[in-house]
Amino acid sequence: MSVGGTLRGFIMIATTNPATGTVEREFTPHTDAQVDLAIAKSVVAFEALKDTTIAQRAEWMNKVADLLESDALVFGRLMTLEMGKPLSQAVGEAKKCATACRYYADNAEAIMADETVDTEKTKSFRRILPLGPVLAVMPWNYPFWQVIRFAAPALMAGNTGLLKHASNVPQCALALEELFTRAGFPDGAFQTLLIGGSKVEAILRDPRVRAATLTGSEPAGASVASICGDEIKPTLLELGGSDAFIVMPSADMDAAVSVGLDSRTKNNGQSCIAAKRFIVHADVYDNFRDAMKTAMEALIIGDPMEDDTNIGPLVNEDAVKDLTHQVENALSQGARRVTGAEAIDQDGAWFRPGIIEGVTEGMDAYSQELFGPVAMLFKVDDLDAAITLANDSSFGLGSAIFTQDKAEIERAFTEIEAGGTFVNTMTASDPRLPFGGIKRSGYGRELAREGLLAFCNVKTCVVA
Ligand code: NAP
Repeated sequence: MSVGGTLRGFIMIATTNPATGTVEREFTPHTDAQVDLAIAKSVVAFEALKDTTIAQRAEWMNKVADLLESDALVFGRLMTLEMGKPLSQAVGEAKKCATACRYYADNAEAIMADETVDTEKTKSFRRILPLGPVLAVMPWNYPFWQVIRFAAPALMAGNTGLLKHASNVPQCALALEELFTRAGFPDGAFQTLLIGGSKVEAILRDPRVRAATLTGSEPAGASVASICGDEIKPTLLELGGSDAFIVMPSADMDAAVSVGLDSRTKNNGQSCIAAKRFIVHADVYDNFRDAMKTAMEALIIGDPMEDDTNIGPLVNEDAVKDLTHQVENALSQGARRVTGAEAIDQDGAWFRPGIIEGVTEGMDAYSQELFGPVAMLFKVDDLDAAITLANDSSFGLGSAIFTQDKAEIERAFTEIEAGGTFVNTMTASDPRLPFGGIKRSGYGRELAREGLLAFCNVKTCVVA
């Protein structure tokens, strides 16, 4: 995995409990021959799937949703075991996946309907057609949601999916494959490949694979995009972020603090769309910082399987080392620790959430993504300065602003360089709304209508 832009390959495909550091289960990676067979099966399944009716696919997709709901606890336990998020959030993730499946079961027919265009010809229209097998390279942080938000629209469109999941969530990956099979999708419609990142290039270059999507780090995204560029294949990239969270004087301060805390620490702080840079107006800065400190210190850190836990471990010990290094480096360059933001010395991958302030341009942390529960606080004098600072980032994923001022809201919608702007609420994905980034956060959109069209041929059809 990579944190903060460094790329590091997992040496094995295994479940390692981040709460204890214990390797629970190892898996033998698939051989090249097994991968070849899986691609062949994907092609056969595509031929079958594209000829099924959307109504049939919707029936299977609704069954996927039923299973996600009925087995949410089972799936949740797997997620928590493999990557450490609190169980309640993992169960919530499984249930959210069901909503995406139902959204596409309900809406694919309308999204894919022929669309007539008035021209001087007898008939002109758009027809939406699937592309074929699509490779999805996915990260561990939302091990079900990231996959489902690709798979639900892709399969509803009639494509087939090949999943190369992160090497530390193999049981989630296998459970996802089984989920689609149990729901009735044809054999091979959605398959998991247990392979490391080094095996991805050959799959991308295989002419039977028609497109690719990657959610993860910049180096991994750049690698997949450049290979697909060479092969002239469409790609969609969802990469890192360092989202701004702006707080203006008119904001409801209690809401700003509680939502900001939630956004920064949810998923143990390992979310691409977490609020990472808190840009706070000078008039309310001290109040915001002090309230955030109190709220941060009240979080319950502990066994992620327990109901009252707010913060579990980071994904692994490398993540703790990387985040600790980023914080220590920032402090050595002149930043100040407000609270926490340090490793906890016990078995497993434990890190105390925290806040730092005083990060300025030129310090490494100013331009880095902190992929863990550390909030960076910045003080600004006005909205101009807030937006300038928000945009002074290579990333452009989500953004949030807390304010009651209509003019400020309008400026934020237009001027913040990001794939989304959320007002008085946190950045979050929703199956009904497009999701994605600009700049080095990636390109393309998942979810909503855009997410289904991402892997389709929008065909121009004309009759003289
Ligand atoms: P990562 O190291 O890039 O891993 C993501 C996936 O890419 C894994 O399946 C990984 O496989 C694979 N991979 C790594 N290097 C590769 C390569 N050179 N070629 C092909 N595949 C490769 O990312 P991560 O550290 O696990 O995830 C954290 C990053 O993802 C953060 O920057 C976060 O912000 C971003 N993220 C973005 C979104 C979004 O929607 N924009 C969502 C979640 C996370 P192995 O596990 O086998 O290495």
